[in-house]
Order: sequence, then structure tokens, then C-alpha cells
Amino acid sequence: MHMLLVYGPRSSTYDFGEGHPLTPRRFGPGIDLLRTLGAEPGLAPEPAPDEELRWCHDAAYIAAVKRLSADPYGRPEAGIGLSDNPAFAGMHEAGAMVAGGSIRAMDAILRGDEEHAFHPGGGLHHAMADRASGFCIYDDPALAIARARRDGLRVLYLDFDVHHGDGVQALFYDDPGVMTASFHESGRYLFPGTGFLDEVGEGPAAGTSVNVPMEPDTGEGAWLDAVRLLVPELAAAFGPDLIVSQHGADSHAWDPLAHLRVTTTAMGEAARIVDAAAHRSAGGRWLATGGGGYDAYRVVPRTWSLVWLAGEHREVPATTDPAWRERWAAEGAEFGQAPPPERFHDAPNAGMPMDWPQEIAEERSIETAASARSAMVPRLLREARDQGWWSAETPRASSSTAPATPPAGDTDAPGTPTVLAAIDRSTWDRLVLSRRILAPFDPAEAHAVVSAALGAGAMVAAAVVGETVVGATVIAADGELLGIGVAPGHRRGGLGARLLAAAPPRTANLSWLAERDPVEPEDLEVRFGIWHRLRTRAGLFGAAEESRA
Ligand SMILES: [Zn+2]
Repeated sequence: MHMLLVYGPRSSTYDFGEGHPLTPRRFGPGIDLLRTLGAEPGLAPEPAPDEELRWCHDAAYIAAVKRLSADPYGRPEAGIGLSDNPAFAGMHEAGAMVAGGSIRAMDAILRGDEEHAFHPGGGLHHAMADRASGFCIYDDPALAIARARRDGLRVLYLDFDVHHGDGVQALFYDDPGVMTASFHESGRYLFPGTGFLDEVGEGPAAGTSVNVPMEPDTGEGAWLDAVRLLVPELAAAFGPDLIVSQHGADSHAWDPLAHLRVTTTAMGEAARIVDAAAHRSAGGRWLATGGGGYDAYRVVPRTWSLVWLAGEHREVPATTDPAWRERWAAEGAEFGQAPPPERFHDAPNAGMPMDWPQEIAEERSIETAASARSAMVPRLLREARDQGWWSAETPRASSSTAPATPPAGDTDAPGTPTVLAAIDRSTWDRLVLSRRILAPFDPAEAHAVVSAALGAGAMVAAAVVGETVVGATVIAADGELLGIGVAPGHRRGGLGARLLAAAPPRTANLSWLAERDPVEPEDLEVRFGIWHRLRTRAGLFGAAEESRA
């Protein structure tokens, strides 16, 4: 197993100057520590051409960057020349170089040359279509995603930086083919002031923008719980062709710019959760980037190493190399970031006492993650995980590595379906479940979930053509509707209403942000309309249920 490391001579040219927190000095101890583990850079970033930058950025913005790149003392514009993003000579080439590193790494993954790649100098997630923001000129994770989108692939983007991944979210806010999920310190307290629960995506993309804003003082326990809760479920439900992740190290307890109390231990574990999700739900394709991180000697190098070790599927060594610590001790001390730690993993809670503000913060952050989950994860998948019908840990049934996105014009089991009101488990196990009916996205996984649900007393109604299930409802033993779906080729023919009439649930508590076709979702309003027609036509619910709706 190999993870391509993206780094080269030009990586250090992205430099806003002395005293700026995003310092290229971090590459010294960072790449050096990776090398002590046997990592060798295999792709040196070169500037991406303008036509690629145009995938995400306006021509007028690129022109502005070039002007200030040639004349750093020119009039500030488009977010450049202001305090966060001072202009510097060659900044266009430097920004384009970071973009080029991530785009070429994506190329390598799409060609199948590499399964995983890691670009520690990447992760400039704040850059917008028309302006620089938060130390970010060109949005390299968004450009890498755009590269995959040009091949029609669907992408899950996971952002662990302490700051909300606002640029990537904004650039794909109306694209149902990209799901973004960001775990960050709440925008009430921290730049960029966005990333709240109600930013969910728009139009057909409603439900593909996930945010977990955490309270200041939240530590590794709650942070990692949120990641562990959401990442596997979002990946399983969305069924991406590949994953792009941003591993900013600034959520760490020692980071000077923010207020979470995460550890390298938790950050490394998050990378392993992403790796597992990539193998389970995205054909193994995974591009990781760095991001923020302003403790350049004690925190950033270890975080990068832990991401890379996760991608290499290697155990974490007990200690950092003593010679590495010796090499960087003096320089780290100069910046008040010494000594270089002896271990990759931090002491529990980063060695800080657990105080009551942290306890309260963690309680609230966990509640926020649970809210995000109930809005953004399909009901059946949540119930399946809670009941043990589905686990993020067990290897999945089907091991296909072909892209999950079906070709256009793909149809499933044409013919007139027969509705079976109450199917038993042995009958179900003889049938094949068609695609895009029930969560998880992978039909073999969804089939196994329904099978386990039947074993636990759930009631399942199925619409069947031959041996293929083209529509189904799953109702819990207590009468709650857990899932309903019809295969694309059989929609808009009244099949959903027939299924509900054949086996009426007593209650339903579905989130129409989460309950959608992951490939071709309807507009949110259309989703509500379909649901309303279904329940009306099927005459399902009593007055109490109607008034609650
Ligand atoms: Zn892997």
C-alpha cells in the first residue's frame, strides 16, 4: 500500500512573508519527520494553467491576482493586499503551484496510478470564486474536486480544519455531485463566521452540505466522536467515487489561532476513519491535503505524519526519531514551539486537566453532531447502525472498485412490478435489490441491512420484477417508517403509494434533506411534494400525524 506524497522545491514559494502565521517553515520539520518514516516525495507541484484555475475561479479574479503578483504594492483588491492575505511577488505562480499539486495528485488517482495521495501544502479551502480569503489564493481542494467532476465522478469532501471549509462548500453548494462535510470551531467565535447547521446546500443539492460547528474548548473526545459518528454514515449513504479530505492541524489544543483542544492522537484517528471510509464506500480513492496549523514544530509535522501513516496502513511508531527532535529543537525554540515532542500521540486531553467549561462545550458539540446526523443521514442507515444491522467496522459485502456512479441511460429491471406486502427474510435473501432505492448507497450493503432488519422484526413491502426489487418500504417493529424508495426507472408511476398502502406505517419521521436519490436528487420542494402526494393518496395518516406534519 502506498500513499503518493506531493512536495517539491516550489512548495515553499507559497509565502506571505515574515511573521505571517501560514509559514513555509513548517515544511522543514514536517517533511523531515515524514522522511524519518520512509516517506519520499513522489510528485513535485508545478503551477496549474489558467484554464484549470478557471474551473473554480473567475477570469477577473485570476487577472487581479496576476496584477498584484507582478506589483505587490498595487491597489488591494479581491481580498489580496489586506492583512490576512498580503500581496507578494510571484503569488500567482505560488498559488497556482499549490493548485497544480492537488490537481495532478487527483490525476494520478483517476488514472489508477495511485490509490491514495497526500498534499501537505494543499488544503487552501477558504478561497472563493472571485476573492482570496483566510491565507488562500486559489482553492486547491475545490480544483481537485472539479477535476474529478469533469469525469462525471461524485466526490465526498471532508474538512477537519478548525476553520469552516467555506470556499469548498460555496463552490459546490448547488452541485448534488459533491457532498461537503466540515468539522470546525463554530463561526460564532472564529473566522470565517460560517458553517452552521442550517447551511445544507440548495436546490437539488439540499442535503449535500453538512456542518458540525463545535463550541470553543471542545476536546479530542467529542471531536472524534462527531467524526466517528458522521464520516462512515455520510460516505455509505452518498456512495462517492472518491474522497478528498483536508487535515488542517489547527484544531489542536496548542494552536495559537483557535480554541478547540484536539490532539494529534484524534487527528491521526480521523485520518484512519477517512481511509476506512474510502476503502469501504469510495473504491479506495482518497486525496488528502494539509491545511491550517500554526504550531509548525510541535503539531503540524506529527499531524502530517499521522495522515500519511493512515494512508500507508501502517502502525504509528512509539516515538519520533530522536535525531529529528535534535535537528529542529533550536529553530522551534526560536518561535516558542519547542521542544519537538517525543511521541506522535499526545497525552490524553493534550495533557490539560478536564475542566467544567470543556465538559459543557463537549456536551453541546455532541448534541450538534447528533442534530447534523438526524438531518443529513437517511433514517434507515441511522437505525441500522444503532441496532447493529450495519457497522462501519465490518468489511462490506461487495468489493467492487468500479466507480459507483452508473453510466447515463442506465435502467433497472423494466417491466410491471408486483407488490409483496409482507416479505419474509428467506424470500428477501433470494431477491436482488436494485440501485438507488434504500440507504446505504451500495445495493449489496442495503440488501444486507434490510435482511438484518427483517431478522429483528421489521416489516418490509417490496415491488418486484422477476428476481429484482425495484421498490421497497422498511417499517420498524413499532410501526415507524424507516425507509422508502423506488428505482429510477419505476418512479412517478404510483409505486410508492402502492407500497405504503400495502403495508401502512404508523409514523414517519424522515428528513427530506437526507432522503433523496444521491445521484439525481430532486429539488427539496419536489421531494416534499412527492411525500405529501404519497401520504395523501395512500390515505395513511390519522389526524394526529397530519397535524404534526
Ligand atoms: Zn487506504
